[in-house]
Amino acid sequence: MKIAVLPGDGIGREVTAEAVKTLEFVGRRRSLSFDFEEAAVGGAALDAHGEPLPAASLALARQSGAVLLGAVGGPKWDEQPYDKRPERALLGLRKELELHVNLRPVKLIEALADRASLRSEVIRGCDMMIVRELTGGIYFGEPRLLERGDKGRWAVDTLVYHDWEIERVARLAFEIARKRRKRVHSVDKANILKSSMLWREVVEEVARDFTDVKLQHLLVDTCAMQILRDPLQFDVIVTENMFGDILSDEAAMLGGSIGLLPSASLGGRVAMYEPVHGSAPDIAGQGKANPVASILSAAMMLRHSFDRESEASAIETAVEQTLADGLRTADLVPAGEKAISTTEMGDAVRVRLEKLL
Ligand code: NAD
Repeated sequence: MKIAVLPGDGIGREVTAEAVKTLEFVGRRRSLSFDFEEAAVGGAALDAHGEPLPAASLALARQSGAVLLGAVGGPKWDEQPYDKRPERALLGLRKELELHVNLRPVKLIEALADRASLRSEVIRGCDMMIVRELTGGIYFGEPRLLERGDKGRWAVDTLVYHDWEIERVARLAFEIARKRRKRVHSVDKANILKSSMLWREVVEEVARDFTDVKLQHLLVDTCAMQILRDPLQFDVIVTENMFGDILSDEAAMLGGSIGLLPSASLGGRVAMYEPVHGSAPDIAGQGKANPVASILSAAMMLRHSFDRESEASAIETAVEQTLADGLRTADLVPAGEKAISTTEMGDAVRVRLEKLL
């Protein structure tokens, strides 16, 4: 099981180290052989090789069974031209590895119910999976223009979807729902956008192959409200690129801290796993970062890339037990209260994992 480790910048390095240690620990306990190889991406790669995504890093990703990414970016590189920005590495990896779908689980960890943004009676039991189309829609459509003319400045973005792009993401969403609570909410803006009318049509067609799964369509504005009003109604949400970008960040806040949320990008031969958060320059290098999102991303890797469900759920249970035992990094305690460090959190998870494996 060859894993390309791309820690990136800022806390990306610190949290990825804990995820790798956790996988190594699982490997030792279960006699699994993981082969880790590290390469630079983002600002670190720009400094070392002049490119945010050097060819050698991309080649390593392509040759691996899965990619574990940290985070990229930071103020040092904010003034870089568009093509040299660290974030280009993410878009490049998604494009080159053909990662056309992003999975973001949002599950409230019971021990943190009192820290969530919503009242605990509204949020307790929340467990949803957001399935976002990742390589189509308005972020990629052509033409893209920002012009200056006789009547002032004007700009164009283009929102295009083909039926096959919608079909493959919808199919995956239904397959995931089948292994969960068998509900899919498909989110669009079909009262206005032509691309959403096609989205709805294709999702309906796919649904015919999944008669055991209940499908409901929601307009994106209604969905944004319902996520806050009654998050427990959602099992799997499937949506297009920009709506998914926004809704998944909204839903991310339900759980209490961005430091807890993993993600997976699938679609091609090699999948990529990364925490939802960025490089957090405000706390980088201080041992304050919560490594849980990265550790849970490693669990998703075991499940989706290596078919190791029992080890994946053991990691998830170990994280839940660690938090239930009251161990907290700085993002999970009120300002001024004592917190443990990134490595202490990683160690605490592994102590509990030992009993589960
Ligand atoms: P961010 O996610 O890095 O940080 C937002 C806030 O959350 C900060 O206060 C940070 O300290 C906190 N935080 C984030 N992760 C945490 C963790 N694991 N533990 C504890 N606290 C955590 O977002 P930002 O500040 O908007 O962006 C910083 C840089 O990261 C920018 O350069 C941005 O472009 C980049 N970024 C990268 C990715 C990625 O690599 N996938 C995603 C988002 C932002």
